[in-house]
Amino acid sequence: MLVRLRVRPGLRALGSRVLVRGWLAITLGHTIVSWRPLEPPELAHELEHVRQWERLGPIAYPLHYLGASLRAWAGGGDWYRDNAFEIAAREAARAAARPTAGPLADGAGARARTGARERAAPPGSGPEATTPDAR
Ligand SMILES: [Zn+2]
Repeated sequence: MLVRLRVRPGLRALGSRVLVRGWLAITLGHTIVSWRPLEPPELAHELEHVRQWERLGPIAYPLHYLGASLRAWAGGGDWYRDNAFEIAAREAARAAARPTAGPLADGAGARARTGARERAAPPGSGPEATTPDAR
């Protein structure tokens, strides 16, 4: 899977107006655009949106995403936070932040991953990534 990552600091204010307040990144097919470099869990979140896009395709994905937002809202939830696609992406981010077993589980590798986990914002705080098709 070839994914293009574009960092465009100038889009921060525009994205907050037209997407979600406090946005961080947006995924359009195989292109991720963010206003600052992404931490590994944040990148994992956006890569899950790339996989969702690949599974459903460029027509069905936005429609399914919108449907998930409507179901979340109709159920009394938040159209963004309770959207099933966003829940899956947040789980991918959490999985990326977890230390794993293996040759790097001890020593410097584990310390590096722990540092990455501590830097990652927990769900519900800080800037959130979003997809473009929910508005
Ligand atoms: Zn997202």
